[in-house]
Amino acid sequence: MSDSHLQGQFETRAIHAGQAPDPQTGAVMTPVYMTSTYAQTAPGKPIAGYEYSRTHNPTRTALEINLASLEGGRHGLCFSSGLAATNALLDRLVPGDKVVAANDLYGGTYRIFTKVFERYGIEFVFVNSANLDEVRDAVDARTRYVYIETPTNPLLRLTDIRACAEIAHKGGALLVVDNTFATPYLQRPLEMGADVVLHSLTKYLGGHSDVVAGALIVNDTALRDELAFFQNSVGGTPGPMDCFLVMRGTKTLAIRMDRHSENALAIAQFLEGHAAVDRVHYPGLPTHPQYDLCKRQMKTGGGMVSFELKGGVEAGNRLASSTKIFTLAESLGGVESLIETPPSMTHASIPAAVRHAAGLQDGLVRLSVGIEHIDDLIADLDRVL
Ligand SMILES: *Cc1c(COP(=O)(O)O)cnc(C)c1O
Repeated sequence: MSDSHLQGQFETRAIHAGQAPDPQTGAVMTPVYMTSTYAQTAPGKPIAGYEYSRTHNPTRTALEINLASLEGGRHGLCFSSGLAATNALLDRLVPGDKVVAANDLYGGTYRIFTKVFERYGIEFVFVNSANLDEVRDAVDARTRYVYIETPTNPLLRLTDIRACAEIAHKGGALLVVDNTFATPYLQRPLEMGADVVLHSLTKYLGGHSDVVAGALIVNDTALRDELAFFQNSVGGTPGPMDCFLVMRGTKTLAIRMDRHSENALAIAQFLEGHAAVDRVHYPGLPTHPQYDLCKRQMKTGGGMVSFELKGGVEAGNRLASSTKIFTLAESLGGVESLIETPPSMTHASIPAAVRHAAGLQDGLVRLSVGIEHIDDLIADLDRVL
């Protein structure tokens, strides 16, 4: 149906895997196959295996191969958003099943768990996944998934993927890792024992804040087939233009992540040394409580930084409303720097009591550090602080 995985280093695969020149025209860039349907030579005999674009589309196939290659996995599946990817995973569950989830997840993930799938008789138990004993105690015979983010959003806590995979497998569950914050350039969960990697492609993989999409990457072919059944049956699939935009993004992922990480580390160090700042959360700082795990599990600390100001909520709001280069906006992972206050923006759907119990203070400020010049970024923060 299309070319297989390409060998080579990450940077090479990012540009070429799934994306050989078009055999018909020689086009170097994968064509955007703007078609809903495909000609057949006889009833039930499509020319190249493609029948209908909810089920398959060649531009989407190219992206699915590309993402699988980058994560070191066998199969990729793309969705119309990160949450549509989460939805497909949850569609496999039946009433009485249980998910053990990290208590520091993306707000929308918490919402689909508690407001959508809990109504169907699926139980969600939230634990601090950085504490492996809590995970171990929560996993039982009904547990189908251990579902984690590492680093977490927005507190940048890490979970030991290898250890978590062992705990999940011992209980007969699958380990799902939302790898949106790290990207496969910094961290490859499947290579550490995870069963499913989930992405919001909207973030670093797209990388330019111009597309919403999601993906799942797995090794197990039976699991891939089951997820593909729900992908097609529910229909939350991305259009070919969206897939093209994400592929354009993955080509530069490595150099973007290097610069995002370099800038984020410099900003974390700047904030840590600033008198107006109370606490900085960045896994690439030696003062981060899980710095050793970061060095073991990730290539760098990534591009996200969060912090609390001594002036609390008011100071945080003032900073977020006054920066000139950092744009006040939700989302993350684009080339441009963004600033936001999670409790009133990205994480507003989590009840205050639940947020506080997870250590998310009302005054928290989150930065998605872009790839602008570091001097301009620091000057922008320094001026307001
Ligand atoms: C944005 C995000 C999601 C959801 O993805 P969408 O593409 O917005 O549906 C899931 N997990 C994390 C960590 C995210 O940042």
